[in-house]
Amino acid sequence: MLSAEFERVSLPLADAFTISRGTQEVAENVLVRITDGGGMTGIGAAAPVGHYGETPDTVEAVLPDLLDVVESVGDPHATARIERELRSVVNGNPAARAAVDIALHDLAAKRLGVPLFRQWGLDPDRVPKTSFTIGLDATERMREKTREAIAEGYDVLKVKLGTDRDEEIVAAVREEAPEARIRVDANEAWTPREAVRMTDRLDAHDVEFVEQPVPASDPKGLKFVYERSSLPIAADESCVTLPDVPAVADRTDIVNLKLMKTGGLTEAQRMIHAARAHGLEVMLGCMIETNAAIAAACHLAPLVDYADLDGALLLDDDEFEGVPMDGSEIRLAEVDRAGTGARRT
Ligand code: MG
Repeated sequence: MLSAEFERVSLPLADAFTISRGTQEVAENVLVRITDGGGMTGIGAAAPVGHYGETPDTVEAVLPDLLDVVESVGDPHATARIERELRSVVNGNPAARAAVDIALHDLAAKRLGVPLFRQWGLDPDRVPKTSFTIGLDATERMREKTREAIAEGYDVLKVKLGTDRDEEIVAAVREEAPEARIRVDANEAWTPREAVRMTDRLDAHDVEFVEQPVPASDPKGLKFVYERSSLPIAADESCVTLPDVPAVADRTDIVNLKLMKTGGLTEAQRMIHAARAHGLEVMLGCMIETNAAIAAACHLAPLVDYADLDGALLLDDDEFEGVPMDGSEIRLAEVDRAGTGARRT
């Protein structure tokens, strides 16, 4: 027997977060709790993003139907059946489905008494470091944020771009962080020709790869950039669902998967394996979200090449703690609780 409930939460950010499309000061997440007959509770969360057609309101609108499915199946270990039935209830709505899927996986692993990565048999020593994101701001402010990030132990940085001073920004960040690995994310802001020109310039600053240089609506442009770029390319907005993986395989080096795009952990695993079969590298990313969701993604991290799981680090205050982190290191082996490790602080 299972019972389920949800609750919307407003999470102020430590700093306003700006990317090429706009600025965000608060993350609206929706927590989902699923409780079994013995009183054990699994927790998950949705971090809806308007770019993918979801808002806190749409999540709250579909969750009653999704949680009806959970209660009527009634078995937290039936994650495949529940996932299939959730898809038959709603089209799209991946963040809402992800919240349910995360809570179920948390509960199932808690009932088995093991951390989720152990339920899957994954190697906690194979987790890549996470990047810490430097959002767009005045160049001097981005320089300061870099200095603070380095002081806090982050040695992998993701720099948001998409301005008329992108090279200046990367030069400033590189100056403050001579030893760090630096990747950049244009969030669709460049034209294909600009993107090729930028990759040449950024290569001189030892940039690791360039994420989403051109709009997802321009797949030919992505291919144009991929064929001419001096740096590896990562597809984020261009790779949302499983069929997108083969579609981008000849025009990107890396796919950036996020639970809030895939609709949960099971589909994320399918996409990881599909990406491998197409010779792609995989990054696991996130939205700005509470540890109630990020913790679950950390358990998948042994399967990927790059992690960008800093969503909770950008919050002013998260009421959940998750997988222990030390600067850029995700200490999955140190999770000493069953489930995802997310718990109220
Ligand atoms: Mg991105």
